[in-house]
Amino acid sequence: MSESQFSGAVSYPTVNFPAADPTVAIVDGDGCVLCNGRTETSVSGLFDTRFGIEGDYESRRCRDCGLEQLFPIPSPSELKDLYERYYNFSGERGTLYTILREWFFSSPLYRLWIRVDEDISFHTCKGTGRLLDIGCNEGRTLKNYARNGFQAEGTELNETAAAVAREAGFRVFTGPLDDFAAALPYDVAVLSNVLEHSLDPKAMLVSVRRLLNHTGQVWISCPNSQSWLRSVFGRRWINWHVPFHITHFSAAALKNLLQHSGFSQIEIRQITPALWAASSIVSRMFARPGKPTRYLRNPFLIFGLLLLCRTLLFPLFYWGNRRGHGDCLVAVATRMD
Ligand SMILES: [Zn+2]
Repeated sequence: MSESQFSGAVSYPTVNFPAADPTVAIVDGDGCVLCNGRTETSVSGLFDTRFGIEGDYESRRCRDCGLEQLFPIPSPSELKDLYERYYNFSGERGTLYTILREWFFSSPLYRLWIRVDEDISFHTCKGTGRLLDIGCNEGRTLKNYARNGFQAEGTELNETAAAVAREAGFRVFTGPLDDFAAALPYDVAVLSNVLEHSLDPKAMLVSVRRLLNHTGQVWISCPNSQSWLRSVFGRRWINWHVPFHITHFSAAALKNLLQHSGFSQIEIRQITPALWAASSIVSRMFARPGKPTRYLRNPFLIFGLLLLCRTLLFPLFYWGNRRGHGDCLVAVATRMD
C-alpha cells in the first residue's frame, strides 16, 4: 500500500481501553469483548436480513471503549453450525449470480470498477513479499494478490472452501489462527471483512502480529459503526449482518485496538462501496424476518442499483467518507517492536 493511497487518512481522537475491572458486574455475559466493560443497548430488534436465520438480536455499545457488539453472541459451536448451514446462501454455486460474479471479478471491468468505486479488498495493491489472506474462502482474492506480485497464501476455517483454494494451487491453512505456525514470517496479513466476525478481535490481531516480520503490515477493512447508511437504513442496514458480525468498530475504536495489539503507523480511511449501499437498499425493500432475501442474488437488480448508487449518490458518498461516516473502514498498520 503506497502512502499516496492513504493521503486522505484523517486523525481520530483517542478513546480509552481500560484494563478489565474484576469488580464490574457483567449481566448475562454481555461484557465488552475487548475491555470487559458494561454494555447497553444501542439498537434492538435486529434480524438476519440475508439468509433468514431465525432470531432476535441487539447491538450493544460498551460504556467504556465505545465498541458495539452483537447480543446475544452465539457460542463457537453455534456459529460453526450457522456458517456451515447458511453462509453464502449455503455455498451457492452454478447460479446465474455466481457465474456472473466469477466472470466480473476476473475481468478487466472489475479493475476499472474499483478505480471508480475504490478498493476495500486491497486488490489494486502491488508488491513482492509474502502475503497471508486470513479467511481466504475459496481463494478468489488470492488470485488477485498473486497477480499483483505477492507470494499469496491463506487461512480458512471452512474445509470445503479451503479445498477449492488448494485446487487452484494455493497453500491454505485450516484451523484457528492461534494454532498456525508459519514456516516464514509474512510481510502482509490481510483481514478483508474478517475482523468483525471474530469472537475475540484483540486475540486475532495479536496472532496476526506474531505471524508478521518486524516491519510487516496488517491491512484491514470492516464496516464503520458511524456510517451514515446505518442511520438511513436502521435495522435493515446490510452491515448488521446478524448473527455473523460480532463487533462493530468506529475508526477511533479500531485505531485503539490496533495500538493495544502492538501496531503503529496506523492510517485509516473511509470508503462507501456502491455494492454495500445497493445491498442495504435491497434489504430495506425485501428483507423479512425468517425469510432469505433472494433479491440480494439477483444480478440485474444488484447491478442496476450499483450503477444508480455510484452515479447519483456520489456526492453523499464523498461527504460521508470525508466526515467520518463512510460505510467501510480501511486501515493499514505496521507491526511495532
Ligand atoms: Zn469496551
